[in-house]
Amino acid sequence: MSAVRSIADHLFAPLRVQSTDIADLFGVWNHSSQLRRQRRVVLKSRTRLMAALFALLVPLWILPDLLLLDTDHWLPLAGLRVASAVVFMGLAWSRDPGCGRLEALLRVGLLLAVPTVFHLLAAPLLADLDTGGPRGVLLQVYELLPFVVVAGLAVFPLTVLETLLYALPIFMAYLYGVHINGEFRFAENVGTLWLLLLVTGAAMVSSLSQLQYMIALVRRASADTLTGALNRAAGEETLELLFGMAVARGEPLALMFIDLDRFKSINDNWGHEAGDTVLRAMAGQVRTALRRGDVLVRWGGEEFLVLLANSDVHGARLVVERLRAAGFGERPDGAPLTASIGLAERLIDRVSDWPELIEIADQRMYAAKLGGRDRAILPGETIVR
Ligand code: GH3
Ligand code: MG
Ligand code: MG
Repeated sequence: MSAVRSIADHLFAPLRVQSTDIADLFGVWNHSSQLRRQRRVVLKSRTRLMAALFALLVPLWILPDLLLLDTDHWLPLAGLRVASAVVFMGLAWSRDPGCGRLEALLRVGLLLAVPTVFHLLAAPLLADLDTGGPRGVLLQVYELLPFVVVAGLAVFPLTVLETLLYALPIFMAYLYGVHINGEFRFAENVGTLWLLLLVTGAAMVSSLSQLQYMIALVRRASADTLTGALNRAAGEETLELLFGMAVARGEPLALMFIDLDRFKSINDNWGHEAGDTVLRAMAGQVRTALRRGDVLVRWGGEEFLVLLANSDVHGARLVVERLRAAGFGERPDGAPLTASIGLAERLIDRVSDWPELIEIADQRMYAAKLGGRDRAILPGETIVR
């Protein structure tokens, strides 16, 4: 039994909610670029899927309307259904222009807005019908529409705030429908409202658990297992994103290339395990000296990048000095571990893409090695030591 639990612990340990995830579950402001990208892809593909499903199902209901309602009622409803299906088809089959930050969320919003608007427009059309017989069942289907919409939120990996923002107009549309249908019947209407709230709560739990899985998986896929820094693939993705953003906004972007000095001798003298321990401690040390928003990447072996968004050479120099002052930890014999650093900056080095930024920083790092190690070389051959 305990063996089973220990296996389960190992399988699911990376997926447990960490305290740092809580903010990510509430809103998007802290989401990493990897998480944003992943979520965007999932939101868009699920929107398409749901839109395609609705584009097929919504017009089908014209038939029961036709059988149970008179022309004055079924015809405008059929018009609404066809119009809805057209919007759904547009959502399902439109070409994806791609990169807009808000676009995925707007698409989800549009998907939800269609049935909500449908509900708003259908409510006055149906208000004067009597509710007896099979027609009553048909009318209930219309009244239940808001439930379908809030339940639909469960399909998406949404934050708490997003779920609330998406659910609010649906609640308002429901209350409008109640208002149009005549007097407010407390027991019935409050009961239904309570149910709507419960469905929203259940949808939120589903959305959040999806988001939590996504956060954990993205973290596991983008972190280097030894040091916890971003791995190379995630680093490239982040750099691509930061570079694009810096160009679009005309902002600087600085990059540090850090190579540890005489690292091989640690492995040679104390073994690979000792080398690993030193690497782990070094990454921890560097992280504490960086600001929020600065990104540490393990580029390979004992080579690291630090990405400093919106940082000019002056700002980056302060970071270099702070890092050097904090140090890179110790070698196993207690001697300080040192590093050679090359710094490049997008504007001052006039680079046109991020690989070139790395190339220049790498060359300066190499110059720092040749100059005697334990130093940083900045643009304009400036040496910090
Ligand atoms: P230099 O000052 O010129 O950079 O000397 P160096 O010894 O650091 O240079 P070199 O690039 O030759 O050596 C890097 C060494 O880092 C080689 C490799 O054994 C070691 N290394 C790379 N990745 C790891 C790792 O994950 N763990 C350990 N323990 N060692 C690693
Ligand atoms: Mg090296
Ligand atoms: Mg080295």
